Amino acid sequence: MTVQPQPPTCGAGRYAPSPSGDLHFGNLRTAVLAWLFARQSGRAFYLRDEDIDTGRSRPEFARRQEEDLRALGLTFDGDTTHQTDRFGAYAKALESLPHYECYCSRKDIQEASQAPHAIPGHYPGTCRNLTEKERETKRAQLREQGRVPALRLAAEADHFTVVDELHGEYTGEVDDFILRRGGQVPDWAYNLAVVVDDAYQGIDQVVRGDDLLSSAPRQAYLAQLLGVEPPTYAHVPLVLNAQGKRLAKRDGAVTLRQMLDGGMTTQQVLSQLGESIGIAGASTVQELLEGFDPDRVPRKPFIWA
Ligand code: GLU
Repeated sequence: MTVQPQPPTCGAGRYAPSPSGDLHFGNLRTAVLAWLFARQSGRAFYLRDEDIDTGRSRPEFARRQEEDLRALGLTFDGDTTHQTDRFGAYAKALESLPHYECYCSRKDIQEASQAPHAIPGHYPGTCRNLTEKERETKRAQLREQGRVPALRLAAEADHFTVVDELHGEYTGEVDDFILRRGGQVPDWAYNLAVVVDDAYQGIDQVVRGDDLLSSAPRQAYLAQLLGVEPPTYAHVPLVLNAQGKRLAKRDGAVTLRQMLDGGMTTQQVLSQLGESIGIAGASTVQELLEGFDPDRVPRKPFIWA
């Protein structure tokens, strides 16, 4: 079922986890920050289950993630949306976007990116200007292998600038990025889904981990092509382990459930989350909200020790 959320009157924020496991301290911290940014500015706040990666997503994890977020006291407007209910919307958006088929294998792209003048991580447009005859041949080759081509955006820009509450104006690369993945079965790409869903839900403030900062220019560019005002962003620093790597399950008792099983209360977890964002002595989300100042969000990663 596709749920139409109530149009927010004064903007909206969201938390959009992928349901591939239980949320750990770093994920919870980002969720709390997203909620604080939204509620502090009078915005609605939505939960979106980003189950687009059907290979890694499990409905069970989506359910547990929502339970954990609610256990901390976070509140959401409307029903949780699921990307697997939204394939029709992605197909409709695709129709309005300039795009082309791409037949490149991962190896082709790797080789092309080693050519002189190649920009690392930038698709060099190999399939953009093929003739129809060349396309027919490549399409037939893929068909023989039981595969379908990917679809790429025919971008008209190579850079785009976004506004980020923590990073200021951030300019990053735009290339002919994938809109729909090819292979045995076509799969909608995260960059398309996230933009279509944010637009649909009236999201005008995106708060998430700063590992996604470099994706923001592509996504904002896409939003603009779809006739939507790009949101403002706040890419918040991640939680790192003692070795400076992104916190992960193997770093010990890091999920809410593990922390509670280990004898902590949700109040203690909240207080620890609060301390990690510079708010002392809060043990409920309301108290966090009272002490929250967007200008004082730490600019450095939090080290989990
Ligand atoms: N689903 C993405 C993740 O869990 C987040 C996407 C976003 O916030 O834009 O990493």
